[in-house]
Amino acid sequence: MDCIFCKIIEKKEPAEIIYEDGYVIVFKDINPQAPIHYLIVPKKHITGVHTMKEDDIEIVGYMLLIARKIAEKLEVNDKGYRLVLNVGKDGGQSIMHLHLHFLAGRKFLWPPG
Ligand code: 5GP
Ligand code: ZN
Repeated sequence: MDCIFCKIIEKKEPAEIIYEDGYVIVFKDINPQAPIHYLIVPKKHITGVHTMKEDDIEIVGYMLLIARKIAEKLEVNDKGYRLVLNVGKDGGQSIMHLHLHFLAGRKFLWPPG
């Protein structure tokens, strides 16, 4: 399968890895939109929220727990941060392997562009 995130998971492509365990990998976004911009990626290839199954509920919940742990480590829990899940073409998803954007280090606007 020609998936850049699977290749990063398999260490066939380089990435600045922040955290890794049996279920997820977290690495720096190559084109950061904030002082801190990480991608929290399940090791299982799930295309996106639009294709997730009941079996994937645990891993998606786990991705949020990892986000909280990263926020604690960075001490941004009080200040706040932004989590983004782009879904499909209109949602702005460009990589078809589920990933949660973790953005911090500046104030974010709403509504998004
Ligand atoms: P999406 O637009 O699918 O929600 O987000 C994909 C993100 O992956 C983008 O923010 C993009 O900068 C990032 N990205 C794309 N290719 C690579 C890569 O090869 N390495 C890393 N670290 N990030 C990537
Ligand atoms: Zn993949």
